Amino acid sequence: MTTYRICLLPGDGIGPEITAEALKVLGVIGDRCGVTFEFEQALLGGAAIDATGTALPEATLTCAYASDAVLLAAIGGPKWDTTDPAKPRPEQGLLGIRKALGLYANLRPVRIFDALRDASSLKPEFLEGVDMLIVRELTGGLYFGARARETGVEGAGAHGAAGMRAYDTMDYREFEIERIARKAFEAARTRRNRVHSVDKANVLETSRLWREVVHRLHTAEYADVELIDQLVDNSAMQLVRYPAQFDVMVTENMFGDILSDEASMLTGSLGMLASASLGDGTALYEPSHGSAPDIAGQGIANPLAMLLSVELMLRHSFSMHEAADALAAAIENVLAEGWRTRDIADSSTLPQKTVGTDAMGSLVAERLQG
Ligand code: NAD
Repeated sequence: MTTYRICLLPGDGIGPEITAEALKVLGVIGDRCGVTFEFEQALLGGAAIDATGTALPEATLTCAYASDAVLLAAIGGPKWDTTDPAKPRPEQGLLGIRKALGLYANLRPVRIFDALRDASSLKPEFLEGVDMLIVRELTGGLYFGARARETGVEGAGAHGAAGMRAYDTMDYREFEIERIARKAFEAARTRRNRVHSVDKANVLETSRLWREVVHRLHTAEYADVELIDQLVDNSAMQLVRYPAQFDVMVTENMFGDILSDEASMLTGSLGMLASASLGDGTALYEPSHGSAPDIAGQGIANPLAMLLSVELMLRHSFSMHEAADALAAAIENVLAEGWRTRDIADSSTLPQKTVGTDAMGSLVAERLQG
C-alpha cells in the first residue's frame, strides 16, 4: 500500500478547527483509494512562539523535510502582534518555512462555484466557464532585487535642490524563469492545455528575457501546450472582461501578486480560496485566508478553503487526480444542495442549511463516501 507522510501545521486561531476537517476528509480518501496518510503535527506561528519562543522551531523544519507534503492551516493573531523588532512574530514562521523549502512557485486556482455565483463582483454572465490557475514566481523579481534609498542626491528635491532617491531592481535569471515556466506547462497538461505568459516585454528587459526563455522551453519540451503571450496591463483588463479565456496564467512575482488578488475577487469569497507553494522538493498547501481570530473557537469557520488546499495537495504532491476530482465534486455538490457556513450564506440560504465547521466537513466527507 502506498504511504504518504504529511506534516500538519494547524497554527493559530481557526487553524486547528479547519485542520480537523482536512483529517476527516483525508481519512475517507485514504480508504477509498487504498492509500495510507501518515500525519505528523508540528508547531508554527503563534502556537510555536508560546511553546518554544520562536515562530519556526527546528522540529517543525525537520517534520517538513521528512514529509511528502506540508499542510498548513493559518497563523497569527492579536496576541502576538508587536512592533518590537526584537520579539518573534508569527509571520516569521511562514516566511521561514517557505524559504527553507525553496518554494519558488505559488499556485492559486480561481474557480467559480455555480452555487456561489452571486458572491462575485462580476455579473454572472461574465463568469461562465471561469476555471483558471495563476502560477506566480515567488522568490525573484522586484521583491528580492537590490534596493536602496539615498539622501542628499543632487537635483532630487523640490526646485532642483538635493533630496532623496530610492530604487528597487527587477532581477531575473534564466533558470528562475525556466523552472516557473515548467511548472506552468506541467500544470496546463493536467488541465485545458493552455498557458498565458504575462509580461511587459514592450518595456522591460527582464520581460524580454522572460519571453525568450518561456518560448525556448515551449518549443523544446511543451509544443503540445498552447502558449499565448499577454502584456500585463492587458491581462489586468482581460481578467474582468473575459476571464474564461484563461486556463493557466504564469507571471513574475509582482505582476502575479497583483493579478492573483484581482482574480481572487472573481470568486467573491475568501473562505473558498486555496493555494499551493511548490519548489523542487516538499511542497506546502494552505488556504489563502488568515487565522480569523474574531471567530476562532466558535465552530463556525468555513473549512472549504482548507479542503480545497487538500485537493491541490492530492494533485500536485501525490498525483491523485481522480481523488482530487472527487473531492472537488463533493464540495460542489454540498454547495449545490444549499449547505453554507455563515460567511458564504446569503438571503437565499435556509436557516436549517447554515452549518458549522464540523458539519460542513462531515457533509463533504459523506458525499465523498458516495
Ligand atoms: P483573516 O483572513 O484571518 O480574516 C478576515 C475576515 O475573514 C475575518 O472577518 C474572518 O472572520 C473571515 N474569515 C477568514 N477565514 C475565514 C473562514 N475560513 N471562515 C469564515 N470566515 C473567515 O484576515 P485578518 O483578519 O486580516 O488576519 C487575522 C490574522 O491572520 C492576522 O494575525 C494575520 O497576520 C493572519 N494572516 C495569516 C495568513 C496565513 O496564515 N497565511 C494570511 C493572512 C492573514
